[in-house]
Amino acid sequence: MNNNIDEYAVFGYPINHSLSPYIHAAFAKQTGQSINYQAIEVKPENFTQAVKDFFNSGGKGINCTVPLKEMAFDEVDVLSERAKFSGAVNTIKLMENGDLFGDNTDGVGLLKDLMDNLELSLAGKRILVLGAGGAARGILGPLLNSAPSSLCLVNRTESKAQALKSIFEPIGEINVSTFNNLTGSTFDLIINATSASLSANLPPLPSQILAEGGVCYDLAYSKHATAFMTWGLKEGAVTSVDGLGMLVEQAAQAFYVWRNVMPDTINVRRELAKN
Ligand code: NDP
Repeated sequence: MNNNIDEYAVFGYPINHSLSPYIHAAFAKQTGQSINYQAIEVKPENFTQAVKDFFNSGGKGINCTVPLKEMAFDEVDVLSERAKFSGAVNTIKLMENGDLFGDNTDGVGLLKDLMDNLELSLAGKRILVLGAGGAARGILGPLLNSAPSSLCLVNRTESKAQALKSIFEPIGEINVSTFNNLTGSTFDLIINATSASLSANLPPLPSQILAEGGVCYDLAYSKHATAFMTWGLKEGAVTSVDGLGMLVEQAAQAFYVWRNVMPDTINVRRELAKN
């Protein structure tokens, strides 16, 4: 490693299509920070050793993505409050005393995109979250803290949604439902935190559950509209977007954890949206 430049990386499997190196290089240039950030393919079975090797050779911080976030949670010495609740870590920082600090910036990244970039107010809104995997765990706390009038959680495997309801009880109430039982309810904001879009699938959503003026947000991002974004537009959503904004915002929060400097995200989002 280069001794003058601080080394960072994103670990994941697969990792070849990660946009994180581009995003962090743009942040570093904009803020004048001297960092190098690379994407490293790490299989789950090699994760613990890869973390050790990276920090032993002078690395300063790691982002973890699918499927390593839960493993990263167990790997660190100290956890932020939001990481504790989410049970997943997407940002690891080497602290001065040599301990590893674990944080989860996914939830705050989503809220930044919803509230600052899309200018949505979540207070008093009826929110529906689809999915109960790692991403859902990261966003439920911040969503409950934004004072919605209700938060409903639906997952294909209902027991996982019930487990999240119990975990997040201290923060706020979650109503667990099934896809079938959604008929007749309406929501102002529907967030797709399933991975269905990654295989061009749509969760089994009934029609007419989006309120007038409602918004659809898919955590997945892709060059083309996802199946869920298309469903949202068909159901009359005023806004139906993917998770590119969240990706950039969670990266900005991770950059802040590491460098104590908050980058501006707007130009990076614009550049990525063009490609
Ligand atoms: P996980 O593998 O942890 O969870 C996947 C979830 O999707 C489970 O709840 C699973 O249900 C559900 N699911 C999968 N396929 C279907 C389907 N066909 N119909 C209904 N439900 C389905 O993944 P993550 O939580 O880590 O990621 C979820 C999504 O969020 C991904 O698309 C990922 O790219 C995106 N993401 C985006 C981020 C961003 O910055 N924009 C950050 C983090 C994630 P079950 O439990 O029944 O299997």
